[in-house]
Amino acid sequence: MSEPLPAASPGSGSTSGTDAGSASASAADSASVIPAETLPLTTATSGLPAGAAELATAPSTHHPTPVSFSERDLHFMKLAQAAAEEARAAGEVPVGAVLVRGDEVIAKGFNHPIGAHDPSAHAEMVALRAAAHTLQNYRLPGCELYVTLEPCLMCAGAIMHARIARVVFGARDPKTGACGSVVDAFANPQLNHHTTVAGGALEDECGAALKLFFAERRRAVREARAARAAAHEAAPAVPAVHAASAACAAADQTGRAATDETGPARLP
Ligand code: ZN
Repeated sequence: MSEPLPAASPGSGSTSGTDAGSASASAADSASVIPAETLPLTTATSGLPAGAAELATAPSTHHPTPVSFSERDLHFMKLAQAAAEEARAAGEVPVGAVLVRGDEVIAKGFNHPIGAHDPSAHAEMVALRAAAHTLQNYRLPGCELYVTLEPCLMCAGAIMHARIARVVFGARDPKTGACGSVVDAFANPQLNHHTTVAGGALEDECGAALKLFFAERRRAVREARAARAAAHEAAPAVPAVHAASAACAAADQTGRAATDETGPARLP
């Protein structure tokens, strides 16, 4: 790239993992954010990364110390946002990630558990798998992972196993965030990891993409319900003679009188 980038040193970021993570829990991401009454899809059935829905409704109760990110960090986070857009275009919760070594993007990934029928198809996991395949090494020391949403426990575990040097994430996830919002996996010294974490890079923009996604999804659900209701209203009434005949037929089969209170008037 043409513009000089600040030192690519993993771990030299603005915040250490523990600091960034524990500062957390403000806005949020994912599926569970959607009020059940407005979106009858559950996280489990929709395959949405938990937490995203909260972005739309959850007020921020934590005020983490502002972290300033380098131009380099913002550059790679924007690439992660572009990956998130691919998820949105595929109808999946828009979360994207890029895995970087030095100033080189080794791999990218976007969230697509629904389309892949794979509960592990989070953006981070996809990027980690692709990078490991590219480098032919299941360890990825010296690499940094940029992701638009705070990693969950599954992804945090994979990040540790891969020996990722540094994670930079955007929006916080109060439902499943494992970098301080719900738990801070990276704060446990008993876990042998080598990862520093910095949260909140382009947080507003990353969160806005998730809010917009869920707002549009709720609107689509409302419109579908309205369309079904309108179609039901417009459905022609069953002629009485046909209804009576059907009732008689049913009565013949069940032995119940056609004039039963559950008879003709309630037949379809
Ligand atoms: Zn995850």
